[in-house]
Amino acid sequence: MAMDRSGNKRVGLFGGTFDPIHCGHLRAAEEVCQARGLDELFFMPAAIPPHKRDVPVSSAARRLAMIKLAIRGHARFRCSTYELDKGGTSYSIDTLVDFRRENGHELYFIIGWDAFCEISTWKDYPRLFSVSHFVVMSRSGMDPGWLDQEQLDFFPVAIRADFCYENKGVYRHRSGNRVYFQPVTRLDISSSMVRRERRAGRSITCLVADAVRDYIVEHGLYRG
Ligand code: ATP
Ligand code: MG
Repeated sequence: MAMDRSGNKRVGLFGGTFDPIHCGHLRAAEEVCQARGLDELFFMPAAIPPHKRDVPVSSAARRLAMIKLAIRGHARFRCSTYELDKGGTSYSIDTLVDFRRENGHELYFIIGWDAFCEISTWKDYPRLFSVSHFVVMSRSGMDPGWLDQEQLDFFPVAIRADFCYENKGVYRHRSGNRVYFQPVTRLDISSSMVRRERRAGRSITCLVADAVRDYIVEHGLYRG
């Protein structure tokens, strides 16, 4: 088991809407787990995602049920109901601070490149990097050359001076935490795509785990 110097576990937190969780999420999470030597990786569905306040989102119970089905049998994958239990708009800074206070683990906050590009719109974003390591996963459409050289302009201007280049794809924050840019297998799947295929009456097999597909069909999700 990978422990940090203080004997804590290495724990990944993968937040999102997960409406529904799909194979792009799962495979990317698996690769991050492996690359960073995580002991556990928590999928954490947001109660109300701040950037999706005006879009209809499936109920928490359904999104959660699908995550549980998707990760069943996976040794390191977990599901956290932290944000759902707390309710209201889910802000990552609050979640990370609380999660760290309660567990004391070495945290790796996992997000996709598309989400990272909007990080300057997140609540208290400069502080996020003091609380947790970050793993930024590539998402389909990314230039694979993104790791080859120092590229501090990945970071919002206001916080650029807080980072220094360490080595290929790794930046060190002044807090000592790191940001890892990690290429993952490009599975060009999104939850929007799964919902779109359902609306069009087409198959979603192999876009989501079989048990998730069965749940979606059984409950008639995303047909409207
Ligand atoms: P939607 O299309 O509804 O926005 P999504 O597929 O982007 O859904 P989210 O729940 O919004 O899924 O994403 C949660 C996190 O997972 C985000 O950080 C996003 O960048 C990342 N992510 C989603 N799909 C992939 C994928 N195929 N590969 C890598 N990362 C992904
Ligand atoms: Mg998204």
